[in-house]
Amino acid sequence: MTTIMIIISLALLGAVLGSFAGAQVWRLRAWQLDIDRQAGHAYDRQEWRHLRVLRQSHLHRDRSRCLQCGHVLSWYDLVPLASWLSTKGHCRYCQTPIGLFEPIVELVMGLALPLSYILWPWPLPLSTGMFILWVVIAVVLLILAAYDAKWRLLPDQLNYGLMILGLLFVVMRALLIGDVEIGSLLGSLGMLAGLYGVLYVLSRGAWIGFGDVKLCVGLALLLSDWRFSFMTLFFANILGCLIVLPGLIRGKLHTQSQVPFGPLLIVGCVVSLLLGGPLLSVITKLSIG
Ligand SMILES: [Zn+2]
Repeated sequence: MTTIMIIISLALLGAVLGSFAGAQVWRLRAWQLDIDRQAGHAYDRQEWRHLRVLRQSHLHRDRSRCLQCGHVLSWYDLVPLASWLSTKGHCRYCQTPIGLFEPIVELVMGLALPLSYILWPWPLPLSTGMFILWVVIAVVLLILAAYDAKWRLLPDQLNYGLMILGLLFVVMRALLIGDVEIGSLLGSLGMLAGLYGVLYVLSRGAWIGFGDVKLCVGLALLLSDWRFSFMTLFFANILGCLIVLPGLIRGKLHTQSQVPFGPLLIVGCVVSLLLGGPLLSVITKLSIG
């Protein structure tokens, strides 16, 4: 009974955190555009005007508003998934379609947290601190993946934040569980960050951006095991192929078209972290038997 209660609570918490993450993606974008504009860099003027509501709301109290009509949203407009479903994906005040972004991030997080609990690789309640930290990390990963999928950019402040959280996670794991090996941790960093660093230098930033390299440092710390980092690369590449291939066959994508690596690496990392252990034991059994 308690397990079911925990799973339901985590699903609700996940949906709320997903909604929070979705809002932060837009706020971060508005902030980034302002910075680019003030620094005299090229920026999307139309998008900058479109997100003006978010800048105005910064001055007053930080309330959520409709990006189209600027109407301040009530609590019943902010209930994850339910609000979106009740208006069939439209703003309650101006009827503008909201799009699928919000319900998707809410759904992803609403599923990710219960699944994390079910598949959690370390003994609970001993590793409760790690799980709470993981929830925070998952929010950061979701914002990073969404931002990169939308604008092909991994914001620095999130990448550095992830590195700090990843480091905290390793330290906590070493103290609570004691299964961190320095050699494997360094191997993990070399496998992900090292490989991407080399690719970045070789391609002079054409294949992948430096943001991907920074992301890899955070992910490698989080995984802290070279075998899991290898798995992350494997899953990310398979996913990338699955996404690119249909387009290539239909001739829609060129071989040069940029696929954002961030979301693929993040999905690969999450799958490896939660399922890496069982997968490794299956592989070991197969290779012995
Ligand atoms: Zn509206």
